[in-house]
Amino acid sequence: MHTFAALARVAYCPRQYYYARQDEDWTPPPDVRRRRDLAFRYPTLRRASDADLATEPISRSPAAYRAALDRLASREDWDALVDPAARGVVLEGRECRGVAHKILDGDPPTPTFVSPGRPPAEGVWRPQRVRAVAMAKALAWEREREVPAAVVEYPAHGVVRGVRLTTRNRAAYRKTVRTLREIDGPPPRIDDEDKCDACDYRERCGVRTRSLRSLLGL
Ligand code: SF4
Repeated sequence: MHTFAALARVAYCPRQYYYARQDEDWTPPPDVRRRRDLAFRYPTLRRASDADLATEPISRSPAAYRAALDRLASREDWDALVDPAARGVVLEGRECRGVAHKILDGDPPTPTFVSPGRPPAEGVWRPQRVRAVAMAKALAWEREREVPAAVVEYPAHGVVRGVRLTTRNRAAYRKTVRTLREIDGPPPRIDDEDKCDACDYRERCGVRTRSLRSLLGL
């Protein structure tokens, strides 16, 4: 059975997934855990002083961060976000399994993924859309009911975004599952400078970083 983390890696870059699988490298580093922890302290952080927020791994100024949390508090699901029905739940679906960081109570229930990173200008990044679909499908399988959406939280930025199981998002999920099933050797490199620059495997992969390319005048 595929894991949510594996699917997200494949959606980012199949070759990166191949390296991570070789290394069995799936454990988030401590700084990721610190940023994820912010998603479980929104009310406290909303009231925190500038000095207190300065010690937190947030990616905005204290004032901008509190303003972002104020906007979050106007969401319909705010109460569920700060007091979820369950935390760190392992979901077992028909074809994928993995951890949902929260399950928001409601009719229907909603799983959330807490990202340590930054959100895109709109929506969520493709690997997280694929993960969100996988989480919603797994929860639907367990509860034997429709789960039409999932949520991605970016707590270091005070941003929360929903992902609906649209035809487009389901198609992205299916394509990723197919790609994952077909990987039996190193997949080709992707042609995406931004992704490669952020990839921990770029040296092993043989991809030059942007800074090295500019040094070499390439
Ligand atoms: S450096 Fe680029 S091509 Fe290579 S594994 Fe990373 S993201 Fe994929």
